[in-house]
Amino acid sequence: MACFSFITYASIYERHSHIHALASHHHSVVVAIAMEAEAAPLIQHLSLKLNPQFFSPKSPFLAYQGTHESCNLTVITNGKDAVHGTGVDNVGTIPAALATYLALEKLDAQEETKVDLLINAGTCGGFKAMGAEIGDVFLTTAVANHDRRIPIPGFTGYGIGKVNSTSVEKLAGEINAKLGVCTTGNSLDAHDVDHLHMGENEASVKDMEIAAIAWSCELHQTPHFGLKVVTDIVDGDRATQEEFMENLGTAAKSLQEALPKVIEYICGRSHDEL
Ligand code: SAH
Repeated sequence: MACFSFITYASIYERHSHIHALASHHHSVVVAIAMEAEAAPLIQHLSLKLNPQFFSPKSPFLAYQGTHESCNLTVITNGKDAVHGTGVDNVGTIPAALATYLALEKLDAQEETKVDLLINAGTCGGFKAMGAEIGDVFLTTAVANHDRRIPIPGFTGYGIGKVNSTSVEKLAGEINAKLGVCTTGNSLDAHDVDHLHMGENEASVKDMEIAAIAWSCELHQTPHFGLKVVTDIVDGDRATQEEFMENLGTAAKSLQEALPKVIEYICGRSHDEL
């Protein structure tokens, strides 16, 4: 009897330590991508399938799921605008925060699907003064807002909303990516006051989503970082929209090459190996 219980305890211990070892590695990974065109190559590459039951039918968001090696992957996109009848991609902070929140809440509800890591992938503007060039891949070290100016005591820091990204220095070396802060605002262009705040945020790149995505991740205590490819130069002399359209192809190609490498690298590795 004593011997029996010893075996039982030993096997329970073994099972638990196995679960613990699994939990410290990345098994459930979410990739949040704003635009459908940015997400399409990854979905195709990993043969992910649309899960029409994932989000509520009221939401415009889409979720694609599948497995890669030991990882369960969920790619979420922000879908198309029906509220204003434009049919364009739902870019910007509001859809990004909401889609991320809903996805994490759903996946975290069950131990088996609890999210180990969230990656926000997409295009961005780059600051040449910080060494950014068209087509570069950046991994974020931190994120912050540049268009939430609230000069009331105590609110300034909330407005800026700076959040550190999970550390990914080894990964950056592995895929030949640069590291830097991504600054977020709801406009594609930037005016003088934006430039002032983007400078204060010490930004290397600029987007329209990541600070909002990071906020939802912080609420769920989900580790997160951004993988951003540069479509346009913010501190250059060309109009952003013109440059964006011209380089979307080149940047999409960089994204297409970098994302599968990142997924490959992180799946089955623990946070301190990133
Ligand atoms: N006209 C484009 C819309 C791009 S909106 C189209 O229809 O294809 C810009 C998207 O790219 C956002 O998701 C944002 O995160 C990213 N982005 C790229 N360059 C940017 C920049 N310079 N500033 C802010 N966001 C940028």
